[in-house]
Amino acid sequence: MLNRTDLRGQVPTAAELRATLPRAEYDVDAALHHVRPVVEAVRDRGVEAVLEYTEKFDKVRPGAVRVPRAELTQALERLDPAVRAALEESITRARKVHAEQRRTDVTTTVVEGGTVTEKWVPVERVGLYAPGGLAVYPSTVVMNVVPAQIAGVGSLVVCSPPQAAFGGLPHPTILAAAELLGVDEVWAVGGAQAVALLAYGGTDTDGTELAPVDIVTGPGNIYLTAAKRLLRGLIGIDAEAGPTEIAILADESADPVHVAADLISQAEHDPLAASVLVTTSEQLADAVDNELVNRVAATKHTERVAEALGGKQSGVILVSTVDDGLRVVDAYAAEHLEIQTANAREVAARVRNAGAIFVGAYAPVSLGDYCAGSNHVLPTGGFARHSSGLSVQSFLKGIHVVDYTEEALREVAGRVVALANAEDLPAHGEAVTARFGGEDR
Ligand code: NAD
Repeated sequence: MLNRTDLRGQVPTAAELRATLPRAEYDVDAALHHVRPVVEAVRDRGVEAVLEYTEKFDKVRPGAVRVPRAELTQALERLDPAVRAALEESITRARKVHAEQRRTDVTTTVVEGGTVTEKWVPVERVGLYAPGGLAVYPSTVVMNVVPAQIAGVGSLVVCSPPQAAFGGLPHPTILAAAELLGVDEVWAVGGAQAVALLAYGGTDTDGTELAPVDIVTGPGNIYLTAAKRLLRGLIGIDAEAGPTEIAILADESADPVHVAADLISQAEHDPLAASVLVTTSEQLADAVDNELVNRVAATKHTERVAEALGGKQSGVILVSTVDDGLRVVDAYAAEHLEIQTANAREVAARVRNAGAIFVGAYAPVSLGDYCAGSNHVLPTGGFARHSSGLSVQSFLKGIHVVDYTEEALREVAGRVVALANAEDLPAHGEAVTARFGGEDR
């Protein structure tokens, strides 16, 4: 069922691997030209343009962008108690993990009388995106909001696409999740128009101000990602989090039922989702293929799953050893990486590139999607080589606070002057010597 690449007996370089490994046809740059007019129209015409594009893409025209507060309260009141309990569990675990991430300010005494403090300050206002196209993601509301709140961000707005089935409001479970988390500002807007409205702000149909934000975070489809790339600079963004990916590094000790179930679980997100098995065992690959045939036929979203598994972004890669497998998964830099080998902890400790690592037979990615306590907004498309998933740190800025006494400055004045002159910027040195009657020391 899955395409196979046999790398046994080969030692490709990281660059060769990157060029040959399965990857989705996902050209964000190409989507920029599609998204630019949307962004410019929202910049120039605000909510009027937002509602036009919403009607076009979401097939519904909400009366206003901002969701009335009463809708949030009602959504929570009507929420299935089992879903409420699960969301509460997810929030509790995420808060537990993220609370430990908050950095403390650090003061370094460089010399007597001279200190540098690294001070961590939250951004003022953030826009948090929860997708709502093919599936709706109340879990993503949790994963965005929890780190922002723990970072101490004062003003949060959650955006999610309006749903025709719910009269132009975002899905009620999204609204209920926001209410549970204590977020009272939710906008019914999706895709590129959401990012543009968050970046530029606007005035709602009833005259309410929709204030611009400093950072936009959260996963989404190619249009959302392209808009984030386009507006980066005006706003801060998190790592690009596009169509989901799972890679599983497995040996003959892995259970093919677990492996197949986990590959399908991520394929269910999107026809562009990637499910990749890297294994030393051809026997396991065969058994997984057999298992997939039955499971794909029986699963709810058969068509989407089959398309994702059959796509060029998914496949099996056969390797000679677990070490070779590690080279492959490092080159691939998956959003989610499962290690299902003997000594899984030891193997996991050697991975360099992954958004998140799931160790052993009892840590499936779907645990991390909802209830592990870890964050599920993770870098895709190989971005895990250089970027991290969403965390408290994503919402903080580090500011150096420099505090020197007269004596401490006098002691180093000559060095500053020497470096300033070496850069032909003598006024820099003079700004120091002016404090000491024009002398260096
Ligand atoms: P989405 O909310 O990202 O996109 C829906 C919006 O796209 C709509 O509101 C609409 O305005 C816009 N849109 C639709 N067609 C358009 C068009 N032709 N032109 C311009 N805009 C258009 O929801 P989605 O589509 O379901 O995508 C969610 C994605 O997020 C999936 O790929 C999923 O795998 C991914 N995801 C990633 C992570 C992660 O952490 N990496 C987590 C959850 C979900």
